Amino acid sequence: MDRRLVLFDIDGTLLKVGSVNRRVLGDALIEVYGTEGSTGRHDFSGKMDGAIIYEVLENAGMDRREIAERFDRARETYITLFRERTTPADITLLDGVRQLLDELSNLPEVHLGLLTGNFENSGRHKLKLPGIDHYFPFGAFADDALLRTELPAIALERASRMTGKNFSPSETVIIGDTEHDIRCARVLDARSIAVATGNFSMDELSAHAPDVLFENFTATGDVVTEILNQQF
Ligand SMILES: [Mg+2]
Repeated sequence: MDRRLVLFDIDGTLLKVGSVNRRVLGDALIEVYGTEGSTGRHDFSGKMDGAIIYEVLENAGMDRREIAERFDRARETYITLFRERTTPADITLLDGVRQLLDELSNLPEVHLGLLTGNFENSGRHKLKLPGIDHYFPFGAFADDALLRTELPAIALERASRMTGKNFSPSETVIIGDTEHDIRCARVLDARSIAVATGNFSMDELSAHAPDVLFENFTATGDVVTEILNQQF
C-alpha cells in the first residue's frame, strides 16, 4: 500500500464555529485599531486569518502599512480573546468526522496533517474543544504565509520532518470545503477532495473541478477508499 499524506482544512470541513468567531475578531480589531472594519459582513470562507484582517480593515479605508504596524498585536489579541471566549458549545463537529479520523489514524500508511487558514493557536483551540487535536501532529497555518497557496509546500516540508518520509504530490490529498482548498491541491499537483459541509453547495464546488466531491463525510468507508485510491 502506498503511503498517504492527508491534509485537512478545519472550518466547514471538520467542524463549524458559531458566531463567537466573528464577534471575537471584531472586538480584537476594535481594541487594536479602533474599528472592526467590515468584519460583521465579510466572507471568511477559505481565507487566511491574516488576509481577513487586512481585507476587513482596508474596507474601512486603512492602508496596508498602517495595518501592518499593529498586525502582530491584533493577531495576539484575537487569539487570546478567542481562547478565552470559545467553549465546546460553540463548536459543532461535522457528521462522520470523528469516525473518519479514527479510521484514518488506524491505517499505518496514512499520515494526517492540517492545511488551514487559521492561526495555529486559535485553530488548535477549535480542535481541542471537541477532542480531535491529537489526530494532527503537524500542519501549515495562517501564521506561515498570507497566501493559502503557499501553504502546501510548507505542509509537505513539515510532514517530512515529522515522519522522516518524503511525500510526493501523488501521495498527497488535500481536503476542504472551498475552491481555495481545491486550488491548493492544484498548486501542488496533489489530489483534491471537496466536501459540501461549509458554505458552498455540491454544484458550486463542482464548478472548480475537485478530483472527488462529497456531500458530507457520513459514508466514511467511501472517503477512506478515495483517499487510498491509486488512480491519480
Ligand atoms: Mg474551510
